[in-house]
Amino acid sequence: MNSDFSRRNFLAAGLALPAANAVPANSLFSAPEPPAGQGLAYRVLGNTGLKVTTVGFGCMITSDPTVITRAADMGINYFDTARVYQNGNNERMVGAALGSRRKNVVLSTKVGAKDKAGALRDLETSLKELGTDYVDIWYLHGKDSPEALTDELLEAQETARKDGKIRFAGVSTHRVAAIADAVIKTGKLQVVLASYNFTMGADAEDAINKLHKAGIGVVAMKVMAGGRRGRQPRPELSRPGAMAAALRWVLKNQGVATSVPSMTDIEQLEENFKTMSQKFSDADQKILTARLEEIRTEYCRMCGRCDGKCPQGLPVSDVLRYLTYAEGYGQFALGREHFLQLPERLRSVRCGECASCPIRCPNGVQVTRRLIRAQELFA
Ligand code: SF4
Ligand code: SF4
Repeated sequence: MNSDFSRRNFLAAGLALPAANAVPANSLFSAPEPPAGQGLAYRVLGNTGLKVTTVGFGCMITSDPTVITRAADMGINYFDTARVYQNGNNERMVGAALGSRRKNVVLSTKVGAKDKAGALRDLETSLKELGTDYVDIWYLHGKDSPEALTDELLEAQETARKDGKIRFAGVSTHRVAAIADAVIKTGKLQVVLASYNFTMGADAEDAINKLHKAGIGVVAMKVMAGGRRGRQPRPELSRPGAMAAALRWVLKNQGVATSVPSMTDIEQLEENFKTMSQKFSDADQKILTARLEEIRTEYCRMCGRCDGKCPQGLPVSDVLRYLTYAEGYGQFALGREHFLQLPERLRSVRCGECASCPIRCPNGVQVTRRLIRAQELFA
């Protein structure tokens, strides 16, 4: 069944949600009513029953609040932030930009704390900064292995839900294939925010389909496979139409309910908005095939195959992701901020001083060269 909905038929679809695995209604909240509007397409976010626009808004690198306000006025109804974005300042900007529109949108944030008390403390800060009494989805931030889904953090989410401070519990991950089974097994998580784009293989696709079938809502992030627009530091790696094609590629998977591309200006917003009413085409496939070849030696798709291979303990894919923040998204400060959070021992590693490197990326990334670049840029 095609799960894109016009306003007229999503109501019918909502009534048809399966009773099995349904999330109990929380009487503290009323579901946001999506607006009618040309060009808007909705899908249901798993068993949460939330109707979300297929294109949402990833606020991580947005510094102009008017882009967020404009998106909400255009009818985009899913907005994602995190406690740590922009040194803790992103939530405040997002809350102010949404203002009274907040009640009409699905708002998510994330927590990176390691224990229950710290997580609940951070949630209080998030609510204060966002200027809201509750968030719709509260994600455990960046959990890439089953062991990271600790009982303590799941308990924090349950406590927050019972206290009416969150509606649904989620987890964000760069490795959806690694944690999909564990997510389902917990029985406590309703939404997964997963890195997902055209560079990824069948394992990511299978994991998303598995989650979707289990009634877990899937939100796609990192949908542009490293950004790289013309105005950013590597214009030679920008390909006209590639960004919109990448978003259409993600949305052709009906297991994905919504996506959170980063948007920093109205031009990006309008380009992404249009994809809600466009189908992935053969022309898109050609663009992405060419694009994949362009970025093959540079873009780490976070497959995890080089995990633990560096004898010095470098978290290779993490460092490559920080480099993507700087070069792909034009967010040097964000990349460096992450890099500087590494232990001093890892920050001081210099790949250029290694006689040899055992890492051979099966996806073609020139790992040593890229790590040297990251170390030159951030250290
Ligand atoms: S560098 Fe290559 S092997 Fe390592 S995580 Fe990235 S894509 Fe996978
Ligand atoms: S070159 Fe870098 S990634 Fe490779 S072994 Fe040396 S320190 Fe590790």
